[in-house]
Amino acid sequence: MPRPRRTSLAARCATLLVALFLTGMAGQPPRQPPRQPPSFVIIGARIADGTGAPLVTASVRVEGDTIAAVGAVTPRPGEPVIEGTGLVLAPGFIDTHNHSSSGLEVEPAAVSQVSQGITTVAVGPDGSSPWPVGEYLQRLRAKPPTVNVVTFAGHATIRREIIGYDYKRPATPDEVTRMASLVTQAMNEGAFGLSSGLEYEVGSYSATDEVVTMARAAGAKGGIYISHIRDEADLAMDAIREAITIGEQGKVPVQITHIKLGTVGVWGQANQAVAMVQAARTRGVDVTADAYPYLAWQSTPRVLIPNKRYTDSASVRRGLDDIGGAKNVQITRWGAHPEFVGKRLDEAARLLGVSDIEAYIRFQGDEESGMIGHAMTEADLRTFYRQPWVMVASDGGIANNHPRGAGTFPRVLGQLVREQRWMTLPEAIHKMSGMPAARLGLRDRGAVKLGMKADLVLFDPATVTDRATFEQPRALSTGIQRVWVNGALVWTGTAVTEARPGRVLTRK
Ligand SMILES: [Zn+2]
Repeated sequence: MPRPRRTSLAARCATLLVALFLTGMAGQPPRQPPRQPPSFVIIGARIADGTGAPLVTASVRVEGDTIAAVGAVTPRPGEPVIEGTGLVLAPGFIDTHNHSSSGLEVEPAAVSQVSQGITTVAVGPDGSSPWPVGEYLQRLRAKPPTVNVVTFAGHATIRREIIGYDYKRPATPDEVTRMASLVTQAMNEGAFGLSSGLEYEVGSYSATDEVVTMARAAGAKGGIYISHIRDEADLAMDAIREAITIGEQGKVPVQITHIKLGTVGVWGQANQAVAMVQAARTRGVDVTADAYPYLAWQSTPRVLIPNKRYTDSASVRRGLDDIGGAKNVQITRWGAHPEFVGKRLDEAARLLGVSDIEAYIRFQGDEESGMIGHAMTEADLRTFYRQPWVMVASDGGIANNHPRGAGTFPRVLGQLVREQRWMTLPEAIHKMSGMPAARLGLRDRGAVKLGMKADLVLFDPATVTDRATFEQPRALSTGIQRVWVNGALVWTGTAVTEARPGRVLTRK
């Protein structure tokens, strides 16, 4: 039993003094951002430099926002020293697929992101982006978050700008020309490329040529094309082929985002997908991909029905079969039935006293509906992650209801590297830093090297792990002990600091 604590007189006096001191501070502005030391040194850590090279023990000096020395560094008198023995120091993680565009404005601290070691987020994926891009970036410059920001221009966003509500058709040649000019405008305002979500409502009505023309406009300005491809299910191979075609004809680097094989009909075919991408790369098409380390996706229930006949029993039966049954549909949002959130659709059907098909029809018909599909295989994910052109990205973000929003990067380091040994630690770090930096064209980030910006992550490789689950999707990861963005400490291992050093990044 714990002994009752006896408070000494001295301790009580100290408490009183602190209380008086705090009272005296009342009326002053709230906590100020901590003063940055002009320089500091991290000693004794093993460094994963972001290139995939083996770990080496070295010390690092940060001066201002820059890595000023790497190697044998002797701390100067009075210079703060961070002890890194037993830990790994890596470049800050760069997330090429992140849904925090509005989250960064609502919650600039971005706790769920920095606690994973993320220091740069690329927002505006899946065809849907802030608009106009320039105004959004200006707001972030005026009120910076903890992390650096990159944005894409959204294909569907632009489609809606030009075609409006009449989007359920291919665009006319004139409309395509005007959409391409909006891509150019967005690039001039700071976008890093074009994103598309060809499986989704607005993007799905586009013809390949339309996307080629718009992607070409992004490529002409040095941007890339990232795509949630047209199908991640039975027609996934066709969709991968289309993404390659768009890159090849549009003369633009293409990234297949959250690459996956999400139906029974294509499970186990990762090698075929890899072969197709490999062949394209061999003939000079610049194709890469990213993946998140979960065997389930999150979207709207309508993506289960490719023919869009959402109330047709046969189509619904087929859609549910494709995912392995209603038991693999987990409800994340259902406006009319908040009590079903977290449950599987087969259970909801039982509670409603209806068939799985009828439950689905009601579920998809609710404007407020969202689901997680438990629909991928471990073997396919492993095959993808082992490719040298596949990087780690979350498809998550602030306030996400899928565990990838808070757990992606530590999950790779804990589950996939330490426990299952799918890849080495330096390889994984490369897929989280150097590889995405190269993809986005961020030449001064993604490496622990002299002269690079000081976006850094210090973590314990023996304990780093995700804690977010499908039931508790926002539980923070553990084991990431310190995170710096542009030389400023933003994460202490248990909390965010007051610093908001994130910058809007530009293409170099
Ligand atoms: Zn997506």
